[in-house]
Amino acid sequence: MERTTHTEKVKCLIIGSGPAGYTAAIYASRANLAPRLYEGMQPGGQLTTTTDVENFPGYPDGVVGQTLMDDLRRQAERFGADLRFGVATAADLSATPYKVTIDDELCVEADTLIIATGATAKYLGLADEKKYAGMGVSACATCDGFFYRKKVVAVVGGGDTACEEAIYLAGLASKVYLLVRKPFLRASQIMRERVMKHSHIEILFEHNAIGLFGEEGVEGVHLVKRLGEPDETRYDLPIDGFFLAIGHQPNSSIFTPWVETDETGYIITEGNSPRTRVPGVFAAGDVADPHYRQAITAAGSGCKAALEAERYLSAQGAIS
Ligand code: NDP
Repeated sequence: MERTTHTEKVKCLIIGSGPAGYTAAIYASRANLAPRLYEGMQPGGQLTTTTDVENFPGYPDGVVGQTLMDDLRRQAERFGADLRFGVATAADLSATPYKVTIDDELCVEADTLIIATGATAKYLGLADEKKYAGMGVSACATCDGFFYRKKVVAVVGGGDTACEEAIYLAGLASKVYLLVRKPFLRASQIMRERVMKHSHIEILFEHNAIGLFGEEGVEGVHLVKRLGEPDETRYDLPIDGFFLAIGHQPNSSIFTPWVETDETGYIITEGNSPRTRVPGVFAAGDVADPHYRQAITAAGSGCKAALEAERYLSAQGAIS
């Protein structure tokens, strides 16, 4: 916090601008908490990187991810939420008011804090993942699987997420290759059994993807079997879609000295609530959710966090 040049004070501070953050801002502003929200590195969050969102209730014809987030943003603005550009770069939750540093220069003191910083899907780091972003590469089967009906896709990963994504995609695609770098699946027994007996899924063990090819979108993947072994082999596999399911990284690092997290960094909250172990500090959306990770569940938890913030401030006598 030492590089800050000035300090401002708010009742309710929200960090993050995905469905959780904006929904918290809508509820908090309607409850007269005068929330201030910092939008972070990617205003609108993960949904701005997908194309059509077809599973968010209320949009029978689907909605472009960016449009959905613009709508949520405008809705929060309509009730007076103070939405600002800025990235939270440090935090001190050791005492109230809680302190969050924005862009290494502004210290915002807050009576309540809602952490809605989301999670970032991990990618392999191939240049082709960027080249074909939105053109056959995805890190979300439930968001984009529908576009691969009766097509051939590959899913990378051997954990529960990869199995879940492969099973979901197998209900749509004609064929799903599960690319697993080890000779076994790390996923739970039940998920292992489900993928192994699914007729549309073929598991390619000891396979690494090293690149993609295609003219106007993904048409195939360059594979290496038994990378680095004497019998290493390389070949190309035709596919239409390439899905990453190698885990997510919750964006919680600046808060981890104070809130409780699991071994990956997901913030642990009390039961079904967004309450962290720090009174008045709440966590909503993907940063606290390794299981569902949906826009609608994030929005729901953002609503809960704002209601909790309102109750907390009322109990402190901070609002009438
Ligand atoms: P995991 O960390 O469990 O699995 C990641 C997988 O991706 C592993 O198979 C790993 O391989 C592979 N991987 C990682 N990096 C690379 C790479 N560079 N190249 C190729 N493969 C790679 O993440 P998940 O998201 O699957 O699960 C996270 C947590 O959430 C787990 O605790 C899981 O049980 C839980 N979960 C539970 C669900 C449920 O209960 N329904 C659903 C989804 C998740 P390797 O094994 O070689 O390290």
